[in-house]
Amino acid sequence: MGVKRGKRPLIAGNWKMNLNHLEAIEVVQKLSYNLDPSDYEEVEVVICPPFTALRSVQTVIDADKLKFGLGAQNCHWQQKGAFTGEISPSMLKKLDVSYVIVGHSERRQLFGEGDEEVAKKARAVRDQEMTPIICVGETLEQRGKGRTEEVVSAQTKAGISRLSADEASSVVIAYEPVWAIGTGRNATPDEAGEVVAKIKEEAEKKFGSAVSDIRVLYGGSVKASNIAGFVSHPLIDGALVGGASLDPDEFGRIVRYSRPPR
Ligand code: PEP
Repeated sequence: MGVKRGKRPLIAGNWKMNLNHLEAIEVVQKLSYNLDPSDYEEVEVVICPPFTALRSVQTVIDADKLKFGLGAQNCHWQQKGAFTGEISPSMLKKLDVSYVIVGHSERRQLFGEGDEEVAKKARAVRDQEMTPIICVGETLEQRGKGRTEEVVSAQTKAGISRLSADEASSVVIAYEPVWAIGTGRNATPDEAGEVVAKIKEEAEKKFGSAVSDIRVLYGGSVKASNIAGFVSHPLIDGALVGGASLDPDEFGRIVRYSRPPR
């Protein structure tokens, strides 16, 4: 499949506001039938269901000894308190969640989340020994004005601003151009790789070689037919997959096609 040798890619499925807890169980079970032990050995697979399905998915993972990691799509930056409707990192930790997406562009655009909140969330997630997946990415308008690098660098800098070098080295950053999310129009691996290089540069500007292994994913209209190009790029460490992760056959293929070559 022309995939690079080296790091084990991370493929994370962001289900967004889809699938109730019963549907979620069905999709996880179907996905598990589509994968075999060697797939999990070679690819780290993470599923990020909505909050209401986390407990059910965790129970299935536990009972069937599945090798999926569990992720959440958002959280608050406080561990508890008077924040009606919010979910804290410590609550997620109790559900065996190991990854939390922070600063997804839908949260930035539709719910007014800014860089400062994203930084606080990343900090709070690390405080519970979970891994934040910090999302960054430019809009079509910003790309059109030649501002991609500036926007993505600023979001990266802010996202890791409350972390130590050691902590930053283990976070995940997802480069998700806003114009590619849910549109069917993906960046090319080379376009994505150029921005990923800037993200890694920005992290190294702050923390030096301590973060040279930071993982950066690509996200935006990833499917089975285009995943190989991304994971074979020397700088791209996996993918954050939205729509295509809802279909266990398609997501299974994405995982399989991400396996490094023998
Ligand atoms: C996402 O929501 O993170 C995403 C990348 O969505 P899609 O794969 O549907 O473009």
